[in-house]
Amino acid sequence: MPISPESLPALEANNLPAIVILGTGGTIAAAAASVANTTDYALAHGVEAVIQAVPQVHSIASVSGEQVVNVSSQEINNSVLLTLAKRVNALLQSDSVDGVVITHGTDTIEETAYFLNLVIKSTKPVVLVGAMRPSTALSADGPLNLLDAVAVAASSTSHGMGVLMVLNGRVGSARHMVKTHTMGTDAFTGQEYGVIGSVIDGKVDFHAAPLRAHTVHCDFDVSLLDALPDVDILYGFQGAGSALFEAAISAGAKGIIFAATGNGTLSEAAKKGALLAQARGVAFVRSTRVASGTVSIKGNDIEFNTVASNSLNPQKARILLSLALTLTNDRTRLQDYFDRY
Ligand code: ASP
Repeated sequence: MPISPESLPALEANNLPAIVILGTGGTIAAAAASVANTTDYALAHGVEAVIQAVPQVHSIASVSGEQVVNVSSQEINNSVLLTLAKRVNALLQSDSVDGVVITHGTDTIEETAYFLNLVIKSTKPVVLVGAMRPSTALSADGPLNLLDAVAVAASSTSHGMGVLMVLNGRVGSARHMVKTHTMGTDAFTGQEYGVIGSVIDGKVDFHAAPLRAHTVHCDFDVSLLDALPDVDILYGFQGAGSALFEAAISAGAKGIIFAATGNGTLSEAAKKGALLAQARGVAFVRSTRVASGTVSIKGNDIEFNTVASNSLNPQKARILLSLALTLTNDRTRLQDYFDRY
């Protein structure tokens, strides 16, 4: 879909790559009452102020800012995801935009990054960045993270890498990066899948490329979507009953992600939930509450009409199932998406 020139950002004409920074809020845009305070803070700045704090970005890229929303990332919902994805696709269609950086709260950044990884129709760089400490902290991590993110978005080596996340000097694939610490600046890793690059002293260095299908290789088309099907996540624990499955299905969920124990194990109560889901045409994905590892396909997936989440954690499995349900709720096709994406 062509975009009108008025909707394009005003970017300086020079030889530097043109990077648009889309602001969505998060700790990178927050302030606390004292410089020693790193955990008790509130949103304070728009994206322009976040950029102004790092004037060095202007020596590596022609940068413009645009505010999409300004919220903590626990408030990001499907509607924001669709708005953001459509804006990124529109920007990247333009010859005058070389890449996009998105500033985002770290709590759900991995979900937004994975969503964009599945729906962006461009090979140009899209980089998500956040901060674990507010802008007022003595050792705020936001400014260097932002500079690194712009460096990655401006680098020709980032093309065709899918959506990337840049924090703490590391470059990770949106498919694998997860938050593994509540407050450390080292909170994001690709776990056993690793990160795929680094930014050291401004130099972008990739050592791997993602193999899972992403961006232009995915089936999903957000231009056709105004909403996404509701998918709920339910947590497995000793003695859990089936009431929460019944509640989710009665409330209208079109899909359920079960954050099961171990390798996506179904308790007797969860089996009841899965059979109820099947009877009501609700998709059911077995993910896991375990921090790492794959949930494998099992013989009784056919009997219970369940899909194995592969190596997607529950929150990323929710993103994929929401998109996949816009095209199918056939168990075999859903499993194929989880195997490939
Ligand atoms: N609650 C914040 C958010 O996700 C945390 C952060 O940005 O680090 O917006």
